[in-house]
Amino acid sequence: MNLLKNKWITVVRKNGEKEKIAPHEVTDQIDSNPIIEIISPRPDFKGALYQFLIGLYQTVYAPKNENIWEDRFNTPPSPKDLKNEMDKVAFAFDLFGEQIRFMQDVSLTEKDSRTNISSLFIDSPGENTLKENKDHFIKRNTIDKVCLECASLGLFTLQTNSPSGGQGHLTSIRGGGPLTTLLKYDTKNEEDLKYKTLWSDIWLNVLPETNFNGNIGFGDQYKYVLPWTITQFIEKDKYNDLKREEKKKGKTVELSGIIATTQDLHGYSIYWSYPRRILLNSNERTELCDICGEKSKTIIDSYLAKTYGFDYGGGGWIHPLSPYYFKKDKDLGETWFPYHPQPGGIIYNNWQAFIYGVNGKDKSAKVISYFLESGRKEGQTIVYAFGYDMDNMKARCWYESLIPIYHIEPKYNDKYESIISSILQSASQAANNLQTKVKDAWFNEGAKPRGDFDYLKIEFFKSTEVKFYELAKLIRDYLDRVDPFDDQAKMDWLKYLNTESLKIFDLYVESGSIEFENIQRIVNARSSLISWNLGDKMKKNIGLPTQEKPIAKKKSTNKKGEKTK
Ligand SMILES: [Zn+2]
Repeated sequence: MNLLKNKWITVVRKNGEKEKIAPHEVTDQIDSNPIIEIISPRPDFKGALYQFLIGLYQTVYAPKNENIWEDRFNTPPSPKDLKNEMDKVAFAFDLFGEQIRFMQDVSLTEKDSRTNISSLFIDSPGENTLKENKDHFIKRNTIDKVCLECASLGLFTLQTNSPSGGQGHLTSIRGGGPLTTLLKYDTKNEEDLKYKTLWSDIWLNVLPETNFNGNIGFGDQYKYVLPWTITQFIEKDKYNDLKREEKKKGKTVELSGIIATTQDLHGYSIYWSYPRRILLNSNERTELCDICGEKSKTIIDSYLAKTYGFDYGGGGWIHPLSPYYFKKDKDLGETWFPYHPQPGGIIYNNWQAFIYGVNGKDKSAKVISYFLESGRKEGQTIVYAFGYDMDNMKARCWYESLIPIYHIEPKYNDKYESIISSILQSASQAANNLQTKVKDAWFNEGAKPRGDFDYLKIEFFKSTEVKFYELAKLIRDYLDRVDPFDDQAKMDWLKYLNTESLKIFDLYVESGSIEFENIQRIVNARSSLISWNLGDKMKKNIGLPTQEKPIAKKKSTNKKGEKTK
């Protein structure tokens, strides 16, 4: 199985036909019956396949500049041309090659630990979870044997999203379970529909090569881009073994992986994150795959693993497909960290950060900021955001969402940023108000209820999402006005937030158990929610005049301190 030569990616064509293709066949029949989407048995595999194809095209077929990018968007290359480009690196994509195996360490032997194949898949319970019986949501023993395609995807997905897996099991280049934001072609214009293809969805996320500066070349056998090709861990293993001996003698030691910073690897290697040392075991027997259900003549049921692969922590990496936030870290100092999905999913309170970035605080994914700067046509693009919500090693949930992106004329950037910030701030405040007041309605004053009540906020954001995006677009359309978000519009927004929060309040408070109900408490909490939502604090935050008394004026005094008349 070679991931660049075999037909292994399931796709659907415009006429609904499904088939398997090799990566260079993405443009097959593009003028008559184009491939429009990837089909996968798991949502995380679909996200992984997009990243695999984007990384691949970025690596072997990066345009020199925007003009070439545009030519290839308008007139997609033939599969034959693409195959020629991919042949350059095909040697690195054999799943069971003699010397080189895709994203695997061929130096592992039976002396290393053998793991059931289920651990390759991120939603499977880790060893600790099994011991502690915490796998209520993620069922154990559901993945015991997989086909070649699912093993390849599991491997790529793990290396790309790798959570911390205990000591020495290192995380991906973006930490455990990063958020990914991709551009997707989305048009309703009749004459542009021919561009609604998988090729467009991939190519929109490929950047001109000048976006990847650095002094590092591809290296012998692409070792600085595809680091599993000839990189060996022998020296590092010797060093770590030595340290383990010292540890036995009671010394405090620190084991380590191969440090991989932006000074050590080529920029494209960011698409080929390789923190885990893994070697898949194959068996020649025909069985059904536990993931896709297809019959396979080769079955993979376990793998060998060894700790301390590539260590990307502190490497200064900025992945072009992820948004980042700025934070002070006790080890790394002030630096950028990739966003990771949170419980509740991808909700609009982060929209500004993910799409535009916020000066000095948030940075949107490079593909998105580049798209906005390049002035490519809006109204044809949407953002596909996805990722796991990880709780250390465990995946709590997989989230994905399509979110809008609006072009802003650069001269209005600051104006738009400030208005959207105030709108988001008011929504967050209203969400907090709701949470507090539902608790006030449920519990007696002074009670400290345990548990997580964030679902109330999440529900509030979900219920106000459509309206928010409409408002954000409307304001964008009126940015040339002196006041694109005037007092009337501000008040309307606050009233809208209030109405929606009352709906959720009523829903939850009324659904409470009668015996615990205290009517007076509910009435008080509800009326207090209204006065908070429409009160001075909210008004002030959004920039409305308030009833607030001005700070008590001191009676003016003359120079001598005597009261004037
Ligand atoms: Zn399968």
